[in-house]
Amino acid sequence: MTLNLGVIGTGAIGRDHIRRCSTTLSGARVAAVSDIDPVQARAAIAPFESEALLFETGEALIASPSVDAVLVTSWGPTHAAFVHAAIAAGKPVFCEKPLATTAADCLSIVKAEAATGKRLVQVGFMRPYDSGYRALRQVLRDNTLGTVLMIHAAHRNPTVGANYTTDMAITDTLIHELDVLRWLIEDDYVSAQVIFPRRSRHARADLRDPQIVLLETAKGIRIDVEIFVNCRYGYDIQCEIVGEEGIARLPEPSAVTLRHQARLGTPILTDWKDRFIAAYDVELQDFIDGVRDGALKGPSAWDGYAAAVAADACVLAQRTGAVEPIVLDRAAAGV
Ligand code: NAP
Repeated sequence: MTLNLGVIGTGAIGRDHIRRCSTTLSGARVAAVSDIDPVQARAAIAPFESEALLFETGEALIASPSVDAVLVTSWGPTHAAFVHAAIAAGKPVFCEKPLATTAADCLSIVKAEAATGKRLVQVGFMRPYDSGYRALRQVLRDNTLGTVLMIHAAHRNPTVGANYTTDMAITDTLIHELDVLRWLIEDDYVSAQVIFPRRSRHARADLRDPQIVLLETAKGIRIDVEIFVNCRYGYDIQCEIVGEEGIARLPEPSAVTLRHQARLGTPILTDWKDRFIAAYDVELQDFIDGVRDGALKGPSAWDGYAAAVAADACVLAQRTGAVEPIVLDRAAAGV
């Protein structure tokens, strides 16, 4: 039976997910949409589903019997209320990151989901669905590197918009590393520190760029992540894992190697959407399959909470310069 999805928020990623559910993935259709701007919502779904319902509010969409499962792709501060409403309605919900804008709100979602006794929430962290990260995780699971000691990572963007602020380097950029590195090494962070090297003259005067985030895990693994959002040359994601027996690197995206005009080289992507385009497809197909099978497997509400707690500590560390603790409240979550 085809799964009827309701999409709340038809901005950039909402439209992208509507397209992928309608043209690329199998087992689901977008049966309903809602956005603060109904004209935009109608325009987003019109090319794909002429029969789709348009709801004035996300809450009305969630309550509709025509909707089996919900995609929350609206602005971050609206996520928590929509996810709570979906849980209360007993409907599976895929929520784009962040699960909520505060760790406390993430925790309340973890608790609300646990109270139903069912897994209902998947968070839109797509890197665990990237084939390169999956290959890297397999190397670790096979114990090829022996004990993992360190990780060196980098997240570089060519440039960022005028609204991008210093703390967004954590909440919008590093957040993907916070999720995927924890998933890779199956370990939790215990502390964070942020160091600001010499500032790039390409960064706006009020933006501290680059930054280096230093994390420590419960097992004692040390992680350094360079965030450099005015690097100019491309969108570049690096991850090197150092173990006792060897080193493993995240593969580069495949590209033609050119020997041309006395140079040997490969192009570097410039847009994050291109870098993880396949991962978004796999991620959302996994949600659809998980709902149909009654067993969601992707990033959980707890993963969303863990990322939020780590991000809060990093933002605090930006201000204090100190090593800040990262503490997950397992007792409150009942896990
Ligand atoms: P966007 O283009 O601003 O889209 C957000 C949409 O939601 C806008 O159309 C917005 O309308 C609408 N909206 C706001 N409040 C709403 C409400 N109460 N009910 C229904 N719709 C509402 O942003 P985006 O880039 O698509 O990002 C959306 C979310 O996805 C963000 O949380 C972002 O972090 C996440 N995201 C994740 C990834 C990833 O890699 N996983 C990538 C991109 C985005 P207005 O414009 O009128 O406010």
